[in-house]
Amino acid sequence: MQHTRTRTETVTVTETAHVTCDRCHREMVPNDLDCEHQERIAIRFRAGYSSVFGDGNLVEADLCQHCVKEVLGPWLRVTEDDPFEPAHRLDGKPKGAWQENQLPGREAGLGEPGRSDWPGADG
Ligand SMILES: [Zn+2]
Repeated sequence: MQHTRTRTETVTVTETAHVTCDRCHREMVPNDLDCEHQERIAIRFRAGYSSVFGDGNLVEADLCQHCVKEVLGPWLRVTEDDPFEPAHRLDGKPKGAWQENQLPGREAGLGEPGRSDWPGADG
């Protein structure tokens, strides 16, 4: 027979209060009605061998959608589509932009490549 007891504890939770665009300093708040937070672009990867960023260096940026459009606009391919009945679907992973050493777990505090808690670590 299991016996239960009730106890009260205080839990401290760390969560994202807002993200600031590294270019224009716009604050993007999760769940705000302006939807800026959900439209932001986060860049986080470890540079590879012979990278222009330096071998093994960590590269990060948080950009608002306005800065992405202003800086990359001429090179972005934007296809009109119906968000509820899309005619164009994204294939699984990003093409040509995915590096095996991306840092998807960094924001979640999962650590870095080579560690057992790294999402891509298979042993
Ligand atoms: Zn910006």
